Amino acid sequence: MNLYNIKHPEEQVNFAQAVRQGLGKDQGLFFPQNIPQFSAAEIEHLLALPLVERSQKILGALIGTEIPAETLNTMVEKAFSFPAPVVKAEAGIYALELFHGPTLAFKDFGGRFMAQALAAVRGKGKITILTATSGDTGAAVAHAFYGLENIDVVILYPQGKISPLQEKLFCTLGGNIRTLAIKGDFDACQALVKQAFDDEELRRSIGLNSANSINISRLLAQVCYYFEAAAQLEKTERENLVVSVPSGNFGNLTAGLIAKSLGLPIKRFIAATNANDTVPRYLNGGEWSPQATVATLSNAMDVSRPNNWPRVEELFKRNRWPLSDLHSAAVSDEQTEQTLRSMYALGYLCEPHGAVAYRVLKQDLQAGETGLFLCTAHPAKFKESVEGILNIELPLPQALAEHARRPLLSEVMENDFSLLRGYLLGID
Ligand SMILES: *Cc1c(COP(=O)(O)O)cnc(C)c1O
Repeated sequence: MNLYNIKHPEEQVNFAQAVRQGLGKDQGLFFPQNIPQFSAAEIEHLLALPLVERSQKILGALIGTEIPAETLNTMVEKAFSFPAPVVKAEAGIYALELFHGPTLAFKDFGGRFMAQALAAVRGKGKITILTATSGDTGAAVAHAFYGLENIDVVILYPQGKISPLQEKLFCTLGGNIRTLAIKGDFDACQALVKQAFDDEELRRSIGLNSANSINISRLLAQVCYYFEAAAQLEKTERENLVVSVPSGNFGNLTAGLIAKSLGLPIKRFIAATNANDTVPRYLNGGEWSPQATVATLSNAMDVSRPNNWPRVEELFKRNRWPLSDLHSAAVSDEQTEQTLRSMYALGYLCEPHGAVAYRVLKQDLQAGETGLFLCTAHPAKFKESVEGILNIELPLPQALAEHARRPLLSEVMENDFSLLRGYLLGID
């Protein structure tokens, strides 16, 4: 697989380099030079296969011979170890539930495949994953890399500023996963991580890697669940399929567009956001003018400068699809609450991110179309808000309950780079 840097197309790398490097020159995103196209008959054949086998074929076609088929097949098998069911929410509208993995959010798909990919292409030398988190990403990274040989993971988070349940989910693993509760806020954690990456000597000696969300391996993994959704629908229902994606950094939408480029028959996509509405304002005739990020109920989408957006535009340009085919709207917290209640009345228990996608889908869906919205997190992950809005009590899913019983293994650290540096160098 060959990829180029969208900002500097002359910079070209293979899959292994793109996975190891993450970003290109000037923070440019890597993008595949060629996306193969399956024929209609090949698509039908793929849709008839089970998830793992089908995903092996899709990722094999995308990545090519650079990774031996046997290795890739094992990677996919290990990464995709949980289902992605399609559930009917009402007549003509379906939910794709992406939260049945170990950390109850769709980031498990990309995170787990990235961990496998990095382990496969790492080459010699030590690897240390260093990440700052305000909750979700840290959990997905910790679980994805847990137990992988010769990869150390260090996760920084703001002490006392994430929910106790979130903390239990990724700070109770031990083994190769180390967690540091920093005496500071999330920005302080991010600043420490940045300082570490700017420290050339440190970076080289411990093989620093950020495992962040712009890594191409994550997006490729996410392509597979769009096929899984289509496979679970009746053939007539996937003829006019409209998919609504709750969007923050727009990685999920990018993956859907790659699935469509591969030939998966999706009629069109909808990009649904919360009040952080840079994209809907832009697509609905405005300028590209990010404003200050605001906190919302769907906080994993509180992003005003979506870093995957250049990949979305690149796909539209290369496929000569008009950008006007991409519908987009923003949903306020008040509307999100109303939507959660009306969905619950219809018999579907959702959480704020999925509700945002459902709301815009419902507004936009035309007669004769089938709607699919992505449910990116388990309702219990947003327990406090969901319980408050719906006036119900949510039991903890088993995975969460188990972690909640274990002791926290985090160390507390002052917000001081020299302490972090010493700590990182001291890991053996
Ligand atoms: C990360 C996240 C999103 C946003 O996905 P992007 O790929 O960044 O657009 C939506 N919902 C949940 C629950 C998330 O964790």
